Amino acid sequence: MLRVLGCYAGGGLRQETYRSLVKNVPIGCLEMVNVSGDISTYWLEFRKRWTGKHDLVTVEQDNVLTPEMLPSFNMCDEPWCVYEYEGPVNMVSRGASDRYLKTSLGCTRFSQRLQQEVPWTEFSKKDYFSWYLIDYRIAVVLGKKGYSPHIHGEVEHLHDYASDPGRLIKEDELYNEAIDKTKRDPKSILGHPGMELEDAGVAEDGSTFDNIITYTRTSEAKKAAAEKKPATGKE
Ligand SMILES: [Zn+2]
Repeated sequence: MLRVLGCYAGGGLRQETYRSLVKNVPIGCLEMVNVSGDISTYWLEFRKRWTGKHDLVTVEQDNVLTPEMLPSFNMCDEPWCVYEYEGPVNMVSRGASDRYLKTSLGCTRFSQRLQQEVPWTEFSKKDYFSWYLIDYRIAVVLGKKGYSPHIHGEVEHLHDYASDPGRLIKEDELYNEAIDKTKRDPKSILGHPGMELEDAGVAEDGSTFDNIITYTRTSEAKKAAAEKKPATGKE
């Protein structure tokens, strides 16, 4: 049995995505949820469906499901199955082996048994959990338990990263700054000026995940960045 969760935010849901879901998900198995409005809503909706009673498929707002994808998941005995897709252009400069997102929630199946073996409380017991960090946390927790994503192929992803280079440049600056600081003092991850550590970087027992640095700018840093001259192009 299968449950398909299609989360989207405000105007982010693409027509192609919506049509592909309606066309390819069996009647009674699709749940479309608008998760905009609160940063934790995605997490609350996700964990509500991590019950161990059904296979759980997540399809995000800008990925396009094709007719063979759900049957491909259904015929597979692996616990964690993924259609990968191209991510941000700066993934490689940040240490990834290629530009493909392999552990996102964009088009992913978590088996019923996996949910029984790893309850959602292992990801976080808190209600507060930023939507954009859920996949990170899940990937790290599952990885530590010996699971790895089983890649079924590639899903069409409609997000155009090339259209926001300014944002990426700024994020790279932020990222490199954080990396430098952390190299000098590993503990500084918890006290980086102008940054707050997001909770995906810290496990329930307080330990940090080695290879993941997740920051969000404090309102003060955001204000300072807004006052700075915007980046004009590539360096
Ligand atoms: Zn599989």
